[in-house]
Amino acid sequence: MSDETTSRVDVLVAGGAAAGLCAAIAARRAGASVRLVEAAPAALRGGNTRHARNFRIAHDGPARYVPDGYRPEEFWADLVRVTGGDTDEPLARTLIRASATIAPWLIANGVLLQALDQGVLPYSRRTAFLFGGGKAMVNALYATARQLGVAIACGTELTALRFGDDGCEAEVAQAGTGARVIAKAVVVATGGYQADPARLRIDFGAAAERMVVRGSPYCTGRGLDLLLDAGAVPVGDPASAHIVAVDARGPRFDGGIVTRITGIPHGIVVDRTAKRLADERADTRRTHYAQWGARIAACPDQLAYLIVDQDGLRRAGPTALPPVAAPTLAELARRLELDPAALDATVRAFNAEAAGREPAVRPLTALPLAAWPLLPGLTFTHFGVAVDARMRVLLRGDRVAPRVFAAGTAMAANVLRHGYLAGLGVTLAAVTGRIAGEEAARAAA
Ligand SMILES: Cc1cc2nc3c(=O)[nH]c(=O)nc-3n(C[C@H](O)[C@H](O)[C@H](O)COP(=O)(O)OP(=O)(O)OC[C@H]3O[C@@H](n4cnc5c(N)ncnc54)[C@H](O)[C@@H]3O)c2cc1C
Repeated sequence: MSDETTSRVDVLVAGGAAAGLCAAIAARRAGASVRLVEAAPAALRGGNTRHARNFRIAHDGPARYVPDGYRPEEFWADLVRVTGGDTDEPLARTLIRASATIAPWLIANGVLLQALDQGVLPYSRRTAFLFGGGKAMVNALYATARQLGVAIACGTELTALRFGDDGCEAEVAQAGTGARVIAKAVVVATGGYQADPARLRIDFGAAAERMVVRGSPYCTGRGLDLLLDAGAVPVGDPASAHIVAVDARGPRFDGGIVTRITGIPHGIVVDRTAKRLADERADTRRTHYAQWGARIAACPDQLAYLIVDQDGLRRAGPTALPPVAAPTLAELARRLELDPAALDATVRAFNAEAAGREPAVRPLTALPLAAWPLLPGLTFTHFGVAVDARMRVLLRGDRVAPRVFAAGTAMAANVLRHGYLAGLGVTLAAVTGRIAGEEAARAAA
């Protein structure tokens, strides 16, 4: 590459969602010159962070944006519960400790949080809600980064990375044109690989065929591949992911939270042979829908249907797309292209079972009926690269890359290898991004 296409910077950040933006701001505030490249065009910048609503924080007492208290030990206990203890404890404790200061830090960098006294929030002492959602957070952080003098290029992808003890050399591409960046340190915050269908097919097999990607189509895992090819230690399980039940009629990418189907405990879920998949009332917690993604992925054609009667429809609440409605079960079967006799037998068996259950379960009898077609919706994969407590990437052979850092989803599997805690994604991205940015600036200095 010619000298005209080569530029020099202290810190190069790849990925412009929560982790990359926090890294860029932290590095710039620490005095480094910073360049941020984001693969998506400006209108779609911000990765999955655009879809987030709230983030989890430890705190001793009430604040304007969070009630009561949520002690670090409670946060730790919740994390152990969902991961079964399979987590990097020192790193997890660093995350929890730093979560206590991340809300004021984000506010100081322009992010607005929803105030409790406006009365529009569900009660949550564990999480703070973003005012205007993740998109507003992303826009605020981009504005702050730009104001601080971070050089930002959207529609620009990190395509190659070489590094040693003295510095890094990266290649970035915009609209087919390549450029070389010589950086003293690099932060890779490019997310997971959930938007690469070929890769999903390798790791999830047939279950991947019709998986819906709930977030950005730009999270293709390229940044992770560059690190792994350069010798980074992988962590997590490439065939494990957070997968939920989504409306099959939603978009293939970027449907966000509104395509999620949350009324499962109020009806029955059947596959294309009209067979029920599992007990719909075994888990009635707010997060029950996350149990259903993998079950739907294992169905024939990865397709299932949630069927409710009038009573269930009222309880299930509104959905982005209206359900398929029918005056009778036979007509519903016809509209869903299910075998009417098989569906009738399944509903009869469910109603007979419901009559004998303790506590009582309502049978499916109040006509008309309604149904939503369901597909598995992938939120993020539980796979990334190993890092130390300074977010430096660990290399095979017990080595550390002193000038290469990973933040956010790209390293989340160090802490979260299975399961999920509501609001952990953004907290993890913001906290690790901030640490990576500060450490990258220090390495560059
Ligand atoms: C529908 C949905 C709802 C969610 N709701 C919540 C919530 O309420 N609370 C919560 O805490 N979490 C939530 N999450 C998870 C949360 O959004 C993520 O954990 C968090 O945004 C991760 O941020 P990140 O910066 O690590 O990366 P990502 O958001 O994954 O973004 C990675 C970025 O890197 C860019 N990129 C990729 N490859 C390259 C490359 N080669 N070069 C340059 N740029 C590249 C992408 O364009 C993207 O902008 C939700 C996720 C989804 C999908």
